[in-house]
Amino acid sequence: MDVVYGLFIVAGWITGLCIVADLSTAKGFNWVKWSAFAMFFNPAVLLILIIFPADQLGIDALRVRRGERVRCPRCLEVMHPEAGTCPHCRNKLTWRT
Ligand SMILES: [Zn+2]
Repeated sequence: MDVVYGLFIVAGWITGLCIVADLSTAKGFNWVKWSAFAMFFNPAVLLILIIFPADQLGIDALRVRRGERVRCPRCLEVMHPEAGTCPHCRNKLTWRT
């Protein structure tokens, strides 16, 4: 019975780690740091993560890396790759023809 209980703890711990990794990425944080924190302390770190406000700069950087967003060459704001004009500085985007 102790083995089964132990397996439940391990499974719960791993599930918690996966949720922490996923949520930290979605909120624009470094998932490696947050997962390590959760692994060595407790997946209940998830509660801290839920309270933490999202890092918009991190989310923007992640979207640019994934190719979902591009940076305006003039003002460096993040925008949709299909945009013809930068919504921040009204710069006409030259990569669009
Ligand atoms: Zn711009």
